[in-house]
Amino acid sequence: MLPSIIAILQSKQNNTGEVHLGLTMPHNPNPHEPIEQPDAHAVQRTEQLFHLTAALSRALTPQAVATVVLEHCLNAVNGSFGVLMQIDPTGKSLTPLAVQGLSEPHQAYWGERTLTRMHPLSDAFRRREQVWLPDQEAIAERYPQLLREPAGRNIAACTALPLMLAQNVLGVLGICFDQRRYFDPDERTFLMTITHVATQALERARLMAAERVLLASADEALALLDTVIDAAPHGIALLDTEFRYRRINPMLAQMHGLPIASHLGKRPSELFPAQAPVWEEYARHVLETGEPIMGLEVGGPQHASDKHALLDYYPIRTTGGTWLGIGIIVQDITERKRIETIQKRLLERERAAHEAEHRARTQAEEAVRLRDTFLSVAAHELKTPLTALLGQAQLLRRRLSKTDAFTATNERSIDTIIGQTKRFNDLLNDLLDGARLESGQLEITRAPFDLVELLHYVVDELRPTFSAHDLQIDVPEQPLIMLADRSRLEQVLHNLLNNAVKYSPNGGLITLQITANDDMVQLVVRDEGIGIAPEAIPHLFKHFFRAPEAERVRPDGIGIGLYIVREIVQQHGGAVTVTSTPGAGSAFSVSLPLAVEL
Ligand code: ADP
Repeated sequence: MLPSIIAILQSKQNNTGEVHLGLTMPHNPNPHEPIEQPDAHAVQRTEQLFHLTAALSRALTPQAVATVVLEHCLNAVNGSFGVLMQIDPTGKSLTPLAVQGLSEPHQAYWGERTLTRMHPLSDAFRRREQVWLPDQEAIAERYPQLLREPAGRNIAACTALPLMLAQNVLGVLGICFDQRRYFDPDERTFLMTITHVATQALERARLMAAERVLLASADEALALLDTVIDAAPHGIALLDTEFRYRRINPMLAQMHGLPIASHLGKRPSELFPAQAPVWEEYARHVLETGEPIMGLEVGGPQHASDKHALLDYYPIRTTGGTWLGIGIIVQDITERKRIETIQKRLLERERAAHEAEHRARTQAEEAVRLRDTFLSVAAHELKTPLTALLGQAQLLRRRLSKTDAFTATNERSIDTIIGQTKRFNDLLNDLLDGARLESGQLEITRAPFDLVELLHYVVDELRPTFSAHDLQIDVPEQPLIMLADRSRLEQVLHNLLNNAVKYSPNGGLITLQITANDDMVQLVVRDEGIGIAPEAIPHLFKHFFRAPEAERVRPDGIGIGLYIVREIVQQHGGAVTVTSTPGAGSAFSVSLPLAVEL
């Protein structure tokens, strides 16, 4: 260190802030001539600088550097107190790194100092030049307020020296004296040399501090990386450019079935000769192109393996572009693949079932459509001759009734013909209505009529069929006018009363009840017949449904009547319900709004 200090001392001060101490150190081109010895004072200064430099080599922080500089400087120039300030990160103010020679209360005065303030320290910093104030007159002239400040009163002379590093000013060194001081050129050069050495040491300490912070954060980042790599749910490996394992996490080691240590320093080809050629080929590709390869699926039957994995290969380079190696991420997807295969199979099965169901439904719909068309056509065709048959039978009855041939036997026979023809007609009507319902063509035509009158009319019409039953009618005496389709409601009453007769083969009581309030009318047909099994009830109003017991007792039904009843009632905004006890009878209840909501 000493020769470099001497070199500094020898150099002339120039406009870059370098200094010349005025020492004439020996430059002796001829080694045989006696060397001129420096004077004692200069030697002492050189020694002082030497000690300062030695002490600075042990100072590792900016604060320690400042303390050492102040200690040695005050000592060397016999200063009374001194301060070493550094520029704060905002660049707007100076903060003290160390203060020496001042008592506590005065130290506080050397706190943060804004650069706008008139002060030797701020000036030296701003103007980048030394301030030399040899006596109080000089101080009073430039900084009158300094002498009025508590810490400034005893200052007899002072200097402020900027700490210049190339074009930057790192801070300022301020030294104060309690005696006048004329700062001869030697002393100025000496103090400037100290400033120079201090600047270097400060910069070094600052760099070291920054490096320590960087190292600490690098350590932290590494610790974090270690944790992430080791705890990752996927396998991770780092290969160097020679394809040797540099790092491998526990998950991948476990997938390979080898301990971590067995991998390190080895190539995949040494450990897994069967698979390695493929892996190394990917790695080589990444090295050659510098591009990552992602989502490579390996394993399965084509790689003679019962495992499946997804591989990612990443290039690893420093920010400067130097290759470090290749990062590999391995995801074990065996389970996922297994589930995918099962899902695929299930989906295929589901699709096949869906298609079969669709085909069956289309066929069934087609069959129903054909059936309905047939029924509708057949019913239509039958209706004309049947109407003619009924008309002729009724005409015959009227004619016969006026003759002697109208015996009781003949009358029964002709009534049977008329009754059966009517039944046949009803069946045909049901079939036609069923077909109309299926194609959405059942129409309702509303007009006002008296429901009580309609009920008596239907009962009179059906009276011959009640011969084996007791009929009880419980209806209001006054008319019950409603706005509805009379003939359709007649159909409903027909169906319910006919069923009550049909499904109580042993006779019994049939009641017909009508109750009404302001808005609704309720119509109940009760019988004491075969009843309905509970499991049949939900299906009762479906097209062509017949309960097994009904099928046994009356095989002549076709299962359309209730279907039509429900449709007519619903189209009137009403509802039909049933309660029944098998073997004891049933009650069908129809509720209808009296008027239509418009
Ligand atoms: P059908 O009487 O021609 O079979 P319906 O649609 O009128 O057709 O009736 C459907 C089914 O409802 C009947 O087959 C029968 O099982 C049941 N059912 C209807 N009314 C009664 C009733 N009063 N008593 C018992 N079962 C009935």
